[in-house]
Order: sequence, then structure tokens, then C-alpha cells
Amino acid sequence: MRRELIDALAVEQVGWKEYANCLGAHHDLFFPDRGASTRAAKQICAECQVRVDCLEYAVTRGEKFGIWGGLSERERRKIRKQRAAEALQRAVS
Ligand code: SF4
Repeated sequence: MRRELIDALAVEQVGWKEYANCLGAHHDLFFPDRGASTRAAKQICAECQVRVDCLEYAVTRGEKFGIWGGLSERERRKIRKQRAAEALQRAVS
């Protein structure tokens, strides 16, 4: 199920949302159809002052759809896997 970024931010009452560079942008840019370009969304994210907050929000919540913090779900999954591997390494060392 798709979630519109702006709605999600509003529901969660995230303080940084008011600074989001994507406010007012069409949600299809951030939730493109499979195989569609993500370039426009990523360009908006690249100039966003809350990019780090947004990315952390999506990574920690396991957001499975859309562009958050300038990264796709696949790119965020790599971060989650890396963090899991680092946590495991710390646990065994
Ligand atoms: S990083 Fe991108 S998706 Fe996140 S708030 Fe900024 S513009 Fe929106």
C-alpha cells in the first residue's frame, strides 16, 4: 500500500515536516511507479534542509515505499542491513 509522504508526515506530527522541501510537490514524484525515474524527487531532496531527519525517519520505521531523504527503498534497505550487521558485530565483540 502506498503512503503519501506529506500525509504520513502530518499524521506522525514530525517537527521537521514544516521545513520539508517537498511540501507542495506532487506525491507521484516521491512515489513513482515501478521503473519510473526518481531523479526529480532526488533533486528536491538534495536541496532539503531536513534530509537527514527525513532519511532517519524512513530508515527507522522501515518505510517500504517512496523516496525519503533522497534515497529509494532499495537504498534505505542497504542502510538497514549495514546497521544490523554493525549491531551484530558489536553484540559479539
Ligand atoms: S528529504 Fe526529500 S522527501 Fe524528505 S522532507 Fe526533504 S524533500 Fe521531502
